[in-house]
Parts: sequence; structure tokens; C-alpha cells
Amino acid sequence: MKPAPFDWHTPGSIEEALALKARFGEEARFLAGGQSLVPAMNFRVAQPAVLVDLNRVVGLDAILAEADGTLSIGAMARNARVERDATAGNHPILAEALHEVAHPQIRNRGTLGGNLSHADPASEMPAVMLALDARFVLRSARGARDMPAASFFLAPLTTALEPDEMLAEIRIPALPRGAGTAFLEVARRRGDYAMMGVAAMVARDADGVCTAARLAFCSAGPTPMLAPRASAALVGTRLTEADIAAAADLARQEVEPMGSVQASPAYQRHLAGVVAARALRLAWERAA
Ligand SMILES: Cc1cc2nc3c(=O)[nH]c(=O)nc-3n(C[C@H](O)[C@H](O)[C@H](O)COP(=O)(O)OP(=O)(O)OC[C@H]3O[C@@H](n4cnc5c(N)ncnc54)[C@H](O)[C@@H]3O)c2cc1C
Repeated sequence: MKPAPFDWHTPGSIEEALALKARFGEEARFLAGGQSLVPAMNFRVAQPAVLVDLNRVVGLDAILAEADGTLSIGAMARNARVERDATAGNHPILAEALHEVAHPQIRNRGTLGGNLSHADPASEMPAVMLALDARFVLRSARGARDMPAASFFLAPLTTALEPDEMLAEIRIPALPRGAGTAFLEVARRRGDYAMMGVAAMVARDADGVCTAARLAFCSAGPTPMLAPRASAALVGTRLTEADIAAAADLARQEVEPMGSVQASPAYQRHLAGVVAARALRLAWERAA
């Protein structure tokens, strides 16, 4: 298959890239790793008239640990680099979840910004961003704004990005004191999109009481899904087996799986409870 004809621009700076997007608006798409966009163009599911290639833009791929513990990741940081970067080591869930994203060759090219902007509800990293309470910096020629990851994902393959905006930076705050995290998924084969996946963060105090919890799922609805009731139910408990079972039961009720060729919504709902319980045990152990 071949794509429909398009014009290709290769800006060298963010300003130049944003000016092009402002000029061409919805007619233009940013090209990051091309791992989702190029197949879509080849199948003619996407037919942008203009590609604004971000691969030569300087300064969009930095990974920085800031003094207050915030991890800043430029949108063009390749997934393989984020997976291996020692700076990202304070957030081991990034490597754990990225390991499940496609295959090494795809992670070598694919970028974190492209993965999040693509907004596939089956994607692992959007759920991880919700569990970590990340914020996204969106830039346009008009200026910059930032928003919580939870406000970014609106519907399948649809985000809060305006036609002239770029996802420029992902900002992940330091984990709460005493936190542990885990990412788990169930997929038919390694590298496949998950039938159900979960990112879990739990924190415990010196007495072994849970002080914070965030559970977020992929393949669980039209967007990555936070499970606020399940998360809130854990706070103040000691994550006994009964507490975990109660939270997993709430999570099962909170997800809105849409079903796929591989799994019915009922099976996905069942899996949500299973992976939630397993991930909570693991994250709690790590928190200790
Ligand atoms: C065989 C295969 C298996 C895969 N399996 C998985 C999987 O298991 N899990 C998973 O999560 N993904 C999977 N993917 C998708 C892969 O992770 C892609 O790399 C990713 O979804 C898109 O990232 P990219 O950098 O390649 O973006 P591109 O394909 O270049 O772009 C994707 C979309 O985002 C837009 N975009 C890109 N960057 C920006 C930006 N900075 N600001 C605004 N818009 C932007 C583009 O215009 C386009 O619409 C798979 C892909 C393949 C080919």
C-alpha cells in the first residue's frame, strides 16, 4: 500500500514546527516515530496533506530529572531511550510498562510523545501517565499550556490537542514518600496490545498504612481509565487480601471495556479484577 500524496516539511526548531502547524492546521500532522501514522497513511486511513516531521527538531527529546524530583521527558524521546535512561530510574514503572509496548524495533523508533498523542485506549503508556498523575505541556505558536494527563485523553484516538498544538513535554512528579508501583497486562502474545492492563501506584507510611493509591487501566474503555473508587478505597487500609479483593471488585465495576476480537467485555472486566489484585500486591511489596 502507498500513502496518498503529501507535502513534507522538516523544521529544525520547535518554533518553526509550530509555525507550520499554525499555517496548515488540521491538514497537517506531526510525524514523530511514524510507527502508528505511517501504517495508517499506507492504509489511507489517514490522509494528511502535510507532514511536519519532528525528527530534526533540536531540543525536543531531552530527559531531565529536576531538583524537586519531577521527571521531564521531551515528546520526541524514543521509547527505547526512556526505557533504558537511568534518569528515569526513579520511576521503574516506565521501563516495566514500555517493555510491553510492541517490540524493540518499534520502541527504537516510536516516541513517548507520539504514543501518547496517538491516544489508543489499548496503549500502555497513557494508563501509566494517569497512575503517575503526570502533566502534559502543550505548545503552539500562541503559547503554552499544561494539563493533567487525565484531561488529555478525550475518546479513542482523540486528545485535547488543538489543531495548532504539539505535545511538547511530559512532566512526571516525584512519587509520594513510601511509594511502590507495578504494571501488569494480559495479552495473547508478547508485544500485542493488552486485552487488559493496569498501572498501580500505592504508598505506605512507617506503620504500614496506605497513604495514597492510584489505579489506571488500558484496554478498559474509550480512553485510559482511572479507577477512582477502587483507589480511594485502599487509602487508610493495610492492603490485606480482603482490602485488595474489595478494591479489585470496585475496579471491575469502574472499567468500561468495549470488547475486541480477542476478548468479550465480560472477560475483560474479569481480567481487570485479576490484574488489579496482582499489581496491587506487587506494588505494595515494592513499597515496603
Ligand atoms: C506492530 C506494532 C505493534 C505495536 N504495539 C503497540 C503496543 O503494544 N502498545 C502501544 O502502546 N503501542 C504499540 N504500537 C504503536 C507504537 O507504540 C507507536 O510508536 C506509537 O503509538 C506512536 O508513536 P510514534 O512516535 O511512532 O508516533 P507517530 O506514528 O509518528 O504519530 C502518531 C500520531 O501522533 C501524532 N503526534 C506525534 N507526535 C506528536 C506530538 N509531539 N504532538 C502532537 N501530535 C503528535 C501524529 O501526528 C500521529 O497522529 C505498535 C506499533 C506497531 C507498528
